[in-house]
Amino acid sequence: MAVEQCLVIIKPDGMAKGLTGDIIRELSRTDLVMAGAKVVQVTRELSEEHYQHLKDKEFFNDLIKYIMGDFHHTKSVLALVYEGEKATEKIRKICGATHPEKAEPTSIRGKYGRVHSETGVFENVIHASENAKEAEREIKLWFRPNELIHTIFPVERKNQKMDSFFWK
Ligand code: ADP
Repeated sequence: MAVEQCLVIIKPDGMAKGLTGDIIRELSRTDLVMAGAKVVQVTRELSEEHYQHLKDKEFFNDLIKYIMGDFHHTKSVLALVYEGEKATEKIRKICGATHPEKAEPTSIRGKYGRVHSETGVFENVIHASENAKEAEREIKLWFRPNELIHTIFPVERKNQKMDSFFWK
């Protein structure tokens, strides 16, 4: 079985509610390996690129505000890369359904998520890539090659410096 990756984001509500430890503990119940981790200040450009597939939805503007931390007085999220067989499937099962009220009660989103009463945005504390292809797109968006424990995807050197590898 092929090894694949999954990008996980602990969203601003997860950060504001102090859930990073609980979420990482839940994810460590899998046999997956953590291959990257960093705190990120989410820009408008990054969030719009990340959620490009939802740009026509009526909730898109509020979703961008949510992921940028505007509703939770925090500018940071925690970005993680997990790696292993069926990584996206295993992690998304632990996350639960997108709608927090429809998520399994014992899943991360079932336990900690809510629908915001004014915006209607699903504040579901965690993002996980939908499949391996989407994971590759997202990891390349959120991480530089030298921020991961090994060279997961092909790289190219753009100038002479050692830290100058870019995704091909
Ligand atoms: P997932 O995060 O489960 O892969 P999507 O990519 O469809 O789901 O949606 C991205 C995020 O947008 C969700 O995690 C949630 O925060 C928000 N969202 C999705 N659908 C809705 C909706 N119908 N109403 C409000 N917010 C939504």
